[in-house]
Amino acid sequence: MFELTVETSFAAAHCLKGYPSPCGRLHGHNWTVAVTVAGERLNDAGMLVDFKVLKEAVRDVVGELDHQYLNELPFFRTGAEPTAENIARYIYTAVAARFSAYPDIQVREIKVAESPAAWVVYRP
Ligand SMILES: [Zn+2]
Repeated sequence: MFELTVETSFAAAHCLKGYPSPCGRLHGHNWTVAVTVAGERLNDAGMLVDFKVLKEAVRDVVGELDHQYLNELPFFRTGAEPTAENIARYIYTAVAARFSAYPDIQVREIKVAESPAAWVVYRP
């Protein structure tokens, strides 16, 4: 089994309305996102997938979050608070959709860090 991981980051604002704490006030983070895909079969070039393809897919998805007020995006307006957990699930769904054309590759793990010392990992 091979696993490939790419990392990127985005800046955005959110507030967690369902949580009585300072997080309920409007504030922002510089989130770091790591996406890992996995598979057993290599292509003719000896790669699971070109890092460039994975980076572009992740950049597309994360770009939709960058410099946004997350609470106002459609995914988070429907009741999912923009917590690190739900951001990871959102990124998983969007990246997995982009890799649906690659049946030999599974999106294995999404890591979303609010700081170097605090992160969430989502695995389907
Ligand atoms: Zn926050």
